[in-house]
Amino acid sequence: MHLSEILTHLGEERGQYFNAVSPPVIQTSNFTFASLDAFRQAFTNELEHHIYSRGNNPTSGILRQKLAALEGAEEALVFASGMGAISAAVMANVQAGGHVVCVDSPYSWTRALLKEYLPRFGVSTTFVDGRDVANIERAIQDNTTLLYLESPNSLTFELQDIRACAELARRRGVVSVMDNSYCSPIFQQPIKMGVDIVIHSGTKYLNGHSDVVMGVLCTSKALARKIFEGEYMTMGGILAPHDAGLAIRGLRTLELRMQRSNESGLLIARYLEQHPKVERVIHPLLPSFPQYELAKKQMRGAGGLFSLYLKAESLEKAEAFYNHLERFLLAVSWGGHESLVLPFAAFYNIPGKPAPVVPWNLVRMYIGLEDPQWLIEGLDKALSRV
Ligand SMILES: *Cc1c(COP(=O)(O)O)cnc(C)c1O
Repeated sequence: MHLSEILTHLGEERGQYFNAVSPPVIQTSNFTFASLDAFRQAFTNELEHHIYSRGNNPTSGILRQKLAALEGAEEALVFASGMGAISAAVMANVQAGGHVVCVDSPYSWTRALLKEYLPRFGVSTTFVDGRDVANIERAIQDNTTLLYLESPNSLTFELQDIRACAELARRRGVVSVMDNSYCSPIFQQPIKMGVDIVIHSGTKYLNGHSDVVMGVLCTSKALARKIFEGEYMTMGGILAPHDAGLAIRGLRTLELRMQRSNESGLLIARYLEQHPKVERVIHPLLPSFPQYELAKKQMRGAGGLFSLYLKAESLEKAEAFYNHLERFLLAVSWGGHESLVLPFAAFYNIPGKPAPVVPWNLVRMYIGLEDPQWLIEGLDKALSRV
């Protein structure tokens, strides 16, 4: 299906709501039935009938159809956060006494889920350098049920060879899950490369306006039904209809926003790479990136997220960069309209907390939708103060 068809029309039954161009937010907890028979009929399939909004809501339903089509998946479920989707995907595929293989440096709360939380239920995890699929193969044990991938991750951007990892998981009877938040389905579709479950922090590009926290899980009909009847309905961390409506609006411009962030991101990364106050830029689509060839092979673009190391002799010198940086906001997260910097220097000198492992001269940049030249002027000024 054409991308434009998905973003503009798929799932929208305009005849059912006065031919309105934009779908209504069906802000309701429950749905009524005309007869006992109709009621009975609905309970044959809670995933597809409208009974109660913890299960299926029409506004969320439109969003789910679009998201599934974007990833080339049969089904999508939407959650109250990316972590809601990740925890559902993980919990659905582990059991007491079982084992998970996860790539090094996944999203921090994913790491916490696997490393700190799941051991309480007798599930252990081995973290491996996923840049070499042989490391993953070696880590798979007889009791391994899940392979967790994130390519690239959202700080240092290591990649996995997605096709090779998916093929390995299938051969060893292990379910593969991948966090595809960095690329969005515009630039990478892991399900088409053989991955079983794709999750997103929809908070980032998919909604794209920094006003909704949401999660997405895309997979086969069979796995979606299992997760719907399990984690989705029992844990209940579902997306509210109003947020689903906002996310549908966000998706209208997904392709445009991704192209803009990708182009501006590369332009600014190239500018920074040659700047004397920058030690190194980490961007998967720069030729200096160690896995550049693999990135070009499996990613159609990179969006606006990358990192750099400042060439600063001291924490104080690095602080000057942030204190003189205009036009960028200092904030966590990414994927919205606004350009951001995440200063790792901020994790230093927190009273009562030990210094982190991440170096203080690391800066994560997110390039949004503003004029890239205007952003470069802002960066130039701040770098001159380092
Ligand atoms: C933000 C993020 C998450 C978590 O998503 P939330 O919507 O914040 O729960 C997961 N993975 C990646 C790569 C992220 O950037």
